[in-house]
Amino acid sequence: MSRERLYLFDTTLRDGAQTNGVDFTLADKLTIARMLDDLGVDYIEAGYPGANPTDTNFFAQKRPMHARVTAFGMTRRPGRSTSNDPGLAAILAAEADAICFVAKSWDYHVRVALETTEEENLASIRDSVRAAKAKGREVLLDCEHFFDGYKANPAYALACAKAAYDEGARWVVLCDTNGGTLPHEVEKIVGEVCRQIPGDHIGIHAHNDTEQAVANSFAALRAGARQIQGTLNGLGERCGNANLVSIIPTLKLKPQYAEKFEIGVSDEALGHIARVSHGLDDILNRAADRTAPYVGESAFATKAGIHASAILKDPATYEHVAPERVGNKRKLLISDQSGRSNLLAELDRIGFAVDKDDPRLSRLLDEVKEREAIGYAYEAADASFELLARRLLGKVPRYFDVEKFDVSVEQRINAKGERVTVSMAVVKVKVGDDLLISAAEGNGPVNALDVALRKDLGKYQSYITGLELTDYRVRILNAGTEAVTRVLIESADESGDHWTTIGVSSNIIDASFQALMDSIVYKLLKSGAPA
Ligand SMILES: [Zn+2]
Repeated sequence: MSRERLYLFDTTLRDGAQTNGVDFTLADKLTIARMLDDLGVDYIEAGYPGANPTDTNFFAQKRPMHARVTAFGMTRRPGRSTSNDPGLAAILAAEADAICFVAKSWDYHVRVALETTEEENLASIRDSVRAAKAKGREVLLDCEHFFDGYKANPAYALACAKAAYDEGARWVVLCDTNGGTLPHEVEKIVGEVCRQIPGDHIGIHAHNDTEQAVANSFAALRAGARQIQGTLNGLGERCGNANLVSIIPTLKLKPQYAEKFEIGVSDEALGHIARVSHGLDDILNRAADRTAPYVGESAFATKAGIHASAILKDPATYEHVAPERVGNKRKLLISDQSGRSNLLAELDRIGFAVDKDDPRLSRLLDEVKEREAIGYAYEAADASFELLARRLLGKVPRYFDVEKFDVSVEQRINAKGERVTVSMAVVKVKVGDDLLISAAEGNGPVNALDVALRKDLGKYQSYITGLELTDYRVRILNAGTEAVTRVLIESADESGDHWTTIGVSSNIIDASFQALMDSIVYKLLKSGAPA
């Protein structure tokens, strides 16, 4: 049986760019557009030409892609003609394959927000679609507040959708703009719309205000819609848009959808989706969501020993899909609850062949338990675990020794008469026979220590140039009678790999120092630096 084509429309660069705290540069937009194009989405909505210089620049020239590059904007303003509307002119002038107009479809909004008549709003839809088609563009119409509008006045909401379809719009997109519609309502309303307009011309644009944007997208699909709009990692205003990083694997890996629908994302591209998701986090300078379905670090992590031993026998026992399909990996957590089977599996994953009766295994398990009792958490620090295991079971070269370090924090009045706090670190490192001394200032003592430590590692310097600290987390724990500080540092390098290291001490600088050292040593090890 041949599968029906389902289209994916990404709006990370338009709706996603409206997120609080997100401000894409043109370079960011081009990078993300390339990531999306490689992934295989059908449409990339890249912005609102005329609304800001970045978006206008994006559309100033042709951006050759497999996906259809789409410009977003409003239909002509009420009371104006299409030839006398500068906003519309900017959209029509954009170098884009498709134009997605947004129009009101809720009579209440037409009256109150637009302050015009229902008929003038319909005329504006028709005129705008016609003008864009005359320019040779594929046309989409986003029906704003469609579901709320349909509940209030179904005939008028439908009339807006029909106006665009009858005028030749390729897609009519039903938007749950406020994000409050529930899946059973979406399924019912989309089903009713599909009796008036063929489903292969209907799209769904869901927002996540009840955390059901993904469910709403699938509800619309079941009811007949054949285009799904969403964003990478569910980026978007308020609680975000439908998350394509969750939708795509479900479409590809769940037989009830995979057998029925074909999408533009190949199996190979699906295998990189975790990297695409983390790539967006990198651009946004955010830590990745550990619990994100399919792609999160915890998505295939198992803690309890009994589950872990079953997973070793057959992964399908506790996994709904194979992690490799989405570019993720199985992770058996090394924690005080875990048994030898977790430990063995984790060692196997990092490439250690150890016999299950090897006495060193008990020593490693004891060491992990002892350390976790004083506040270490190796399940959150894969790289520190690997170093611990390698030190006990094999070898980690002693690349360098930190003979001493000195960190100072000074608050004073500067030359401009402002009160400033300055942190300084001096580090004395021995690399082979060379004694190297580095000093650095930082925006805090840990930052100063980090900068000084990585300033000069002599012959190893070239191995750590791509090393970057991407996240720093501190927790105060009550372990036993006194409070201790746990520091987790997430690092990344030029290859896009991420790893986490840990330090625990009653002193925050000490704890940070341990985690920094582990991160550097791990990077040297992974880069194959000679001992
Ligand atoms: Zn939206």
